[in-house]
Amino acid sequence: MAARRQALRLAARALEQRLNGDSSDHGGAKLPCPCGGSAQYHGRHGKRFESALGPLHLRRAYYHCKQCESGFCPRDRALGLESFSLTPGVRRMTGRAAALLSFEESSGLLQELAGVEVSAKQVERAAEALGAEIAVDEHQQVEKMGEVAPTMYLGMDGTGVPMRSAEAANRAGKQADGSAKTREAKLVTLWTAESRDEQSKPVRDPGSVTYSAAMESAATLDTSPELSEFAARVQREASRRGFTEAQCQAVLGDGSAWIWNTATELFPQATQILDRFHAQEHLSQLGKVIYGDSPEGKQWIFRNYIAKNLADTFDTATPGTVGISTAAEGTRPFWARSLRKTLSPMKTLTSPLAPLLRARLTSISTICWEATSESPMFALTTIPAA
Ligand SMILES: [Zn+2]
Repeated sequence: MAARRQALRLAARALEQRLNGDSSDHGGAKLPCPCGGSAQYHGRHGKRFESALGPLHLRRAYYHCKQCESGFCPRDRALGLESFSLTPGVRRMTGRAAALLSFEESSGLLQELAGVEVSAKQVERAAEALGAEIAVDEHQQVEKMGEVAPTMYLGMDGTGVPMRSAEAANRAGKQADGSAKTREAKLVTLWTAESRDEQSKPVRDPGSVTYSAAMESAATLDTSPELSEFAARVQREASRRGFTEAQCQAVLGDGSAWIWNTATELFPQATQILDRFHAQEHLSQLGKVIYGDSPEGKQWIFRNYIAKNLADTFDTATPGTVGISTAAEGTRPFWARSLRKTLSPMKTLTSPLAPLLRARLTSISTICWEATSESPMFALTTIPAA
């Protein structure tokens, strides 16, 4: 380690000498300032920079503008050192570390592995600035990247991120008093699953996952011509992956209304799939609504969990029809459809339980079953009346 550090220091001295011996960054007595004013030459100013070779002490031509009371060094601009005392190489290393670790840990790791001195505060500033640059890029770069698979999957989800109290102030939340301790980060992810396992079930293709996440709202007024902030993010990520060019498009979600709303607005042609965990959860809620907390209800729920096809366990003689769509070839075993779409046939329910069921189902929002068919199909089945 010591020998490596020594060699790097020697290289740093050589680079320093070369740059400090070159005064071509002096562009005359005056230079135009970005503010529109004129900046005066104020001699050569020294500053320490953190480079991949270790610290560099550079003396650069400095210009000061009276109009906006700020100064700049043309060499810093040319070398990409303008807003940081970190060279672009060290910024890149810092960004890589900060994406995985805390600012403090990043600082330690950079010191240990690269022999570069970047304080936790510098890591924080660099990470925040890089994040802002990435956010701008993410909004601007929406051209398609990579191949479009026959089936493309798009998942959306949200999760609460703990916040300092100042960040969560004045936001509605899930605490007893209506306050919030978290804010919801929303995620859109895209992947393909053309690979098959030994049972020829689809498996997610390694390296096919891309994602984009932000603390953004998915809500927008019905009358607004604009997409919500998060829906716009979903659309950009889908464009980059060519999602809508796939023959078969699937949107996966946990049943939250905002997910199906966003999916229906952006990709009405896509098949909506409820994930297995939430499908089971909703099914269990549905069983309790229909049967109460009874052994009969537990049996019903259990039967539906293990059922190869829910249609077998529903009594088709009872009134009320619920439509369930399924499965195109090459997708996951649990398929579902937002019950918002299937609720209209529910209005024909005549059982005394109907109003309760209907109220419950709007929040349950989805019903599902395990698809056994390899080909797309549409099944009609019924909810048993009490
Ligand atoms: Zn100025």
